[in-house]
Amino acid sequence: CGIVGVLGQHEAAPILVEALKRLEYRGYDSAGIATVNDGVLGRRRAVGKLVNLSDLLVHDPLPGKSGIGHTRWATHGAPSVNNAHPHKAGPVAVVHNGIVENYRDLRAELAEHGVDFQTETDTETVALMTEHHLNSGLSPVEAAFKTIDQLEGAFALAFLFDGEDDLIVAARKGSPLAIGHGDGEMYVGSDAIALAPLTNQITYLEEGDRAVLTRTSLEIRNEAGELANREKRKIKLDH
Ligand code: GLU
Repeated sequence: CGIVGVLGQHEAAPILVEALKRLEYRGYDSAGIATVNDGVLGRRRAVGKLVNLSDLLVHDPLPGKSGIGHTRWATHGAPSVNNAHPHKAGPVAVVHNGIVENYRDLRAELAEHGVDFQTETDTETVALMTEHHLNSGLSPVEAAFKTIDQLEGAFALAFLFDGEDDLIVAARKGSPLAIGHGDGEMYVGSDAIALAPLTNQITYLEEGDRAVLTRTSLEIRNEAGELANREKRKIKLDH
């Protein structure tokens, strides 16, 4: 239901939880974050209010300056820790707003390759398909883009990769997504309000766009894969 992401200069976990709090008004049943720390992808998830995730992070901290976060409003699979985002498959973690309508077809395709499923969610399919493409030799960006091309439905997505602490791939189709520009930092949020304390420099993705973020660069391509120029706006947000 809510997506946030940060490639930052400071610890990501508190920034992600704070940004998710700003999306609480949208409602959710569970929450989670993933970070890359010293190249290693880790995640923490909790059912219920964000305070449960915060408590978990006190007892079981998740270091790292790059990360993605999510508040979930379950559509496929019950609200549970196991079904909460980020979904992880090998070296990739994914957060997702919306519904992947053709996830059954994608599951069938993955099952033919002997892939096992851990959840009932449509989102897990996105992570598993990306892992599948990584296994076939594609780079993280190529693997994410190829997966995005296969998806039908309405979604906003953010991908984080093991071994890549300066990379987030994001995509938008039928669900809004904003990129925030910081000073040597880059952010992503399903609503710019999530990023309000971090920056007022926002680039909104357009329908079908996919973006490659690093701390110092933002490359956006349209649905056809062509480089796209999207305006960076200075927005005014009510806190
Ligand atoms: N369809 C996904 C799920 O049920 C994402 C729901 C959401 O937008 O939070 O896990």
